[in-house]
Amino acid sequence: MSRISRVELHEFTYVVEGFGRDHHGALCPHPTGQQTVPAFCIVIETADGHRGEYVPGHSGKNPAIVPQVAALAPRLIGRDAFAREGIWHALRWSQRHLGAIGLSAIDVCLWDLAGKASGQSIARMLGGYRERLPTYASTTHADRVGVLSSKEAFAAFAQQCRDLGYPGFKIHGWGEGDPREEAANLLHVRRAIGDSMALMIDPACTLASWADALHLGHACDDARCFWYEDPFADMGTAPTAHRRLREKLRTPLLLTEHVRTLEAKVAWVQEGATDFLRADPEYDGGITGTMKTAHLAEAFGIDVELHGAGPAQRHCMAAIRNTNFYELSLLAPGRRNPIPPVFACDYSEEIDAIGADGCFPVPSGPGLGVTYDWDRIRAASVAVRRWPA
Ligand SMILES: [Mg+2]
Repeated sequence: MSRISRVELHEFTYVVEGFGRDHHGALCPHPTGQQTVPAFCIVIETADGHRGEYVPGHSGKNPAIVPQVAALAPRLIGRDAFAREGIWHALRWSQRHLGAIGLSAIDVCLWDLAGKASGQSIARMLGGYRERLPTYASTTHADRVGVLSSKEAFAAFAQQCRDLGYPGFKIHGWGEGDPREEAANLLHVRRAIGDSMALMIDPACTLASWADALHLGHACDDARCFWYEDPFADMGTAPTAHRRLREKLRTPLLLTEHVRTLEAKVAWVQEGATDFLRADPEYDGGITGTMKTAHLAEAFGIDVELHGAGPAQRHCMAAIRNTNFYELSLLAPGRRNPIPPVFACDYSEEIDAIGADGCFPVPSGPGLGVTYDWDRIRAASVAVRRWPA
């Protein structure tokens, strides 16, 4: 048994250039803006010398996540680091009122530890299915200050992504609840790129009503969208509403990004409320929870689409048959990807890292297969917590 002897939680910040905030507080492009973004790294060590590390790519931006991870960290001390399933269920129980999000980063860190201990990548441990990941460019939310602020700007960016080799493009629009503006943008982008790319739209639950969702859904049909994601302000949690939407549209729906726990996603399939399931190792119980969701979808004969970019997402996708795209979020013209800049290896989530085959690679090194720049993390440190203290 490899007993967990130490857990560390390193909170740090980083600065992204060329970004502002929209009225929801989400990052969006800005000509001269600069934003300071929070992030964290979890480290788990065992008494016999094994170590895992993980920096979440997007969930760390939400300051509600770190306290959940910190609340669970002391419960790891003394447990067998390789008993991930047992840890997953124990931590899930203790956060059952909270959707058990906090165990996600811990689970990914334990997979990194196990992979490094055995000298295998996580994709190989999971049982590899593919080595290359077809990838869509997923935009930031739109802005009103001249970067991604018009349908012409979206069309030009989609064409840029197409020319770089992306087989898909997903729009996050203005998020101000105007279905006519969002529909006009979507249709303009489709006209600009022709049928050369899969096209998706994600209002991220910002349309106010079901009727607004239906309006944009008709545009999705006209634009021959690959999927229509989280349209309106039920926050993607009302299966009956989406079954009724589905009955009126030809475009497949992608829901359950905001539906926590494996069992709660089942209802969406049984109700006929979504075409695709969503899973995210940063929110859905880590790699363990994501693979459970993937196999749940497989049992129903449907596809699961992974949310967001990061090494954990890549390893999961490498081991899932019933999935279509890697989501390279969040992109905007002329800007670096606003993920934590912590890699001391050739791992990249930048827009020009796409391969000639329209795919991103799966890291092949042990565990997550990435090396973190600890000088950078320590230099930007805000707080460090250790268990035992
Ligand atoms: Mg989404």
